[in-house]
Amino acid sequence: MTRPTPKTVPWDRDFWANAERGVLSAQRCDDCGRLQHYPKPVCSECLGANIRFEALSGRGEVYSFTTVRRPELPEFEAEAPYTVVDVLLDEGIRFLSRLADEQDAPGLKLGDKLTTVFKPVGDGTKHLPYFVKVRD
Ligand SMILES: [Zn+2]
Repeated sequence: MTRPTPKTVPWDRDFWANAERGVLSAQRCDDCGRLQHYPKPVCSECLGANIRFEALSGRGEVYSFTTVRRPELPEFEAEAPYTVVDVLLDEGIRFLSRLADEQDAPGLKLGDKLTTVFKPVGDGTKHLPYFVKVRD
């Protein structure tokens, strides 16, 4: 069973287009300045609709993480065990993702520096952001 391809909604099209170019991005509200992820049709702070995607550094640190050994959905079983990371991006927002390489999992700790890589998912038409550990 293959992993499903993420579906696109009108307000996240630019996120996927940026991911295709290897750029992690999030929405910035032009009315109040808030940066938000995940993509929404309006700003979650002021409900303004003047929002646009801007490129992020792709860097952050481990805010939290867990290892999934028994996925809920059968489409993910072939990839288990895998490590889900809650990343505090350098821009101050959090981003839920996974480690790109499980060799980074042993010894992983809060505050470890991470950077984004993109991998094709599902039918290959979408690229998902994953994270790898930054070596000193
Ligand atoms: Zn706003």
